[in-house]
Amino acid sequence: MKVFKFGGASVKDATAVKNVAAILDHYKKEQLVVVVSAMGKTTNALEKIVTAFIQKQDHLGELIDEVRQFHQSIIDELGFPANHPINDKISNCFVEIEWNTEGESDKGYNFVYDQIVSMGELLATHIVSDYLSLYGRPNSWLDVRDVLITDNNYREGIVDWNITGQLIPKKVTSLLASSPLIITQGFIGATTENFTTTLGREGSDYTAAIFSFCLQASEMVVWKDVPGVLSADPKYYDDAVKLEQISYRDAIELTYYGATVIHPKTIKPLENRQIPLRVASFLAPGDKGTLIGDFPTTKPLVPCFIFKPNQILFSIAAKDFSFIAEDSLSTIFGLFVKHHVKVNLMQNSAISFSVCMDNDPLKIPELSKELSEYYTVRYNENLRLITIRHYFPSTVEQLTKGKVILLEQRSRQTAQLVIRED
Ligand code: ASP
Ligand code: MG
Repeated sequence: MKVFKFGGASVKDATAVKNVAAILDHYKKEQLVVVVSAMGKTTNALEKIVTAFIQKQDHLGELIDEVRQFHQSIIDELGFPANHPINDKISNCFVEIEWNTEGESDKGYNFVYDQIVSMGELLATHIVSDYLSLYGRPNSWLDVRDVLITDNNYREGIVDWNITGQLIPKKVTSLLASSPLIITQGFIGATTENFTTTLGREGSDYTAAIFSFCLQASEMVVWKDVPGVLSADPKYYDDAVKLEQISYRDAIELTYYGATVIHPKTIKPLENRQIPLRVASFLAPGDKGTLIGDFPTTKPLVPCFIFKPNQILFSIAAKDFSFIAEDSLSTIFGLFVKHHVKVNLMQNSAISFSVCMDNDPLKIPELSKELSEYYTVRYNENLRLITIRHYFPSTVEQLTKGKVILLEQRSRQTAQLVIRED
C-alpha cells in the first residue's frame, strides 16, 4: 500500500489532471490511496469568498462565479459528456457554498471558513476521480470527513488519532475490495458532530501522512513541481542543490524552521512507523526525487538554508527594570498562546527577552498591545530569519557579509540569524 499526495499545482488545469492520470497508470498493480488538494489557487479564491461574506462585500456573487467557472472550464476540457454525473456533483458543492454564504454570519469566522474553503478539495477530488473512471481507471471516491476526525478547533483541527486510527483502516479495507485505487481529499476533516474542519493551510501533506501512518503504508510520495527537496529556495540562494536523501531528523528540523516544501506536521507520524517519504516531480515522474527516511545522514551533506522573510523581533523588558525571570516568561508565553503566535527564535538576558516571529498583521498588533500593558516592548520589523542546518563558519560569514545582524544563535548543527531585509 502506497499513499500519494498531489498538490494544487499538479491539478491546476485539465492538462495537469491528465498528467496525474498518466502517472497513476504506472501504478496499476499497487494498492493506492491518492490524496488530492484543491485545484491551482482555489483555496485562496475560496478564502476571498469567506472574507467577502463576512464583510458583506457586494462582489460575493462574482467571486463564487469565478470559482465555478474555473472548475467548469476544466470539466469541459476534460471531455466529460454533457449528462455526466460530475455536473451534479459540482453543482452540489456550489449549492453548499451558496447556502453557507446566505443570511447572517453568526457562527464565527473560523467555522464559516472551514465549511466554505473545504469545498476546494471536494471539487478537485470529484473531478479527478470521475475523470479517471471515465477513461477506464476504476477507483473509489472517499469522503475523508467520514474517517479523519478532529476536534472543533476550526481552521487548525487537531486530529483525534484514536478514532481516526480505527476508521481509516476499516473504511479503506472495505473500499479496496472493489478497487485498488482510492481518491480522497487532503486538508479537511470533520468533528464528531459532522461539521467540516480544516487542518491548516498546506495541510494535505499532513493528511497523506495520517493515512500512511494509519495504513502502515510502505511508502508515501508527494508529487510536486520541483525535482525534490533542494538545499535552499532558489528564489533566495543561487547555489541550491537537490538532496538525494534526508534523515527524518533533518527533515523535521528543516520543516520546523520553515522549509515550505513539506508541511511541518508530516514527518513525525512517518518517522514513528518508519515509513519512507519520497518527494518527486510530477513533471519528471521517472526521476528519483528526494527520499526522506531512516538514514544516518543527509546526502549530499551540504549546508541547507531556510529563509523566512517578514519577521518581527520583539525585545521585552520589565517596566521597573527588574529581571526577566520565570514568572515573567510564563506570563509572556501565556500571551503567545492566547494570540496563537509561534516563536521562531528566542533569547534572554538578565533584563530583556528577545523573540522573533512571523509579522502576521492579524495577530502581531494585538499581541504587541497586550504585551505593552505589562512590559516595555521594543520591536524591529522588516527582518529576515535565516536558518542554516549543517553550517560551516564560512557559510555564515559569506551569507551575512555587509548585513546587519540583530540576533544570532548557533548550536552544533544549526545556525540562526536575524538580519535586516535589504
Ligand atoms: N488546498 C489547501 C491549501 O492550499 C491545502 C493544501 O494545498 O495542502 O492550503
Ligand atoms: Mg497546496
